[in-house]
Amino acid sequence: MKPVLNQKSTTTISTLGEFGFISRLASGVFQHKSVITGIGDDAAVTVPTEGKQLLTSTDMLLEEVHFRRSWHDPLRLGRKSLAVSISDIAAMGGLPRWALLSLAMPADLPLDFMDDFMRGFLSMASEHEVTLIGGDTCSSRTGLTISVTIMGEQDSGRIVRRSGAMIGDDIWVTGTVGDAAFALQKLENGEDVEVGQLQRLLDPTPRIAASLALVQEGLVNAMIDVSDGLLADFGHIAEQSGVGGCISVADLPLSAEFRLQADLLDSSPYQLALSGGEDYELCFTAAYSNREKVTDCMKKCGIAATRIGIVTSSSGVVAINQNGSPYNIKADGFNHFT
Ligand code: ADP
Ligand code: MG
Repeated sequence: MKPVLNQKSTTTISTLGEFGFISRLASGVFQHKSVITGIGDDAAVTVPTEGKQLLTSTDMLLEEVHFRRSWHDPLRLGRKSLAVSISDIAAMGGLPRWALLSLAMPADLPLDFMDDFMRGFLSMASEHEVTLIGGDTCSSRTGLTISVTIMGEQDSGRIVRRSGAMIGDDIWVTGTVGDAAFALQKLENGEDVEVGQLQRLLDPTPRIAASLALVQEGLVNAMIDVSDGLLADFGHIAEQSGVGGCISVADLPLSAEFRLQADLLDSSPYQLALSGGEDYELCFTAAYSNREKVTDCMKKCGIAATRIGIVTSSSGVVAINQNGSPYNIKADGFNHFT
């Protein structure tokens, strides 16, 4: 008799159990040569590159807080779970190397959901040559909780912090801003979202290539990834550098879709571009004298970067209209507890 093939959708995590799930997951992992012992022992053993410093960051994604299973398909959820961590390494100018994945899963979660999740996670890992070296697996009585810890490396002199902005620096941002927040707003309003815009929200691209190109040439003074909103995230650079900033709203890079549909927005397009989160673009500051070099460097790696303002000596960050008058900011970004 042939095996029953339609068991796919009825099999849950509880059918496999903790150890069955771990060995299923481990079978899909490709190990980089820097990993001596990966998944399966009490701790992973890795060999850092000589002379490099270690960068470590961790992020949680909670069902109903960061994602909804009805909006986020498992494959792209897996990709994004790792992408947001890779983005943190990019924001420091590092090369991502090793990741740990901890999962708290409802016992009745379909196994094919987690199979797709892991396929997505591991596809993002292989695109950036990151090895999954371990994690933890347990059951959840609420929703799905995903926690990713990432480790990366860089030469001490190339690591870029939030604290390095200098008065007079240009403020730059890669790609376009506001698209992810626009998609989220449409989903929340029950409206249709174009494929490209939905992709920005569900499957963001971490800007490793741009980051490495910039740090290789030593062009950047301070950097952050835009996860909570441009204004809020640049605000962290300003605060930690002891400087201020002036952002010109007319210079904000908006995608063609964003511009076309701006009249559908609940607020002015600039409000969303300034405060919308989850774009995972890089916001950085660079000396005025490096203007052309930054432009050339970005051109070489095929990623757009736009000058959106300057670092000032005032305290706080302001936005201005094209004529120089102050732009009234309604909300400055995402905050979990407000
Ligand atoms: P311990 O009881 O020592 O914590 P576990 O049984 O939790 O060990 O884990 C066994 C191995 O499987 C370890 O190497 C651990 O890192 C790995 N592991 C467990 N869960 C995951 C996961 N979700 N992703 C990757 N590796 C995992
Ligand atoms: Mg454990």
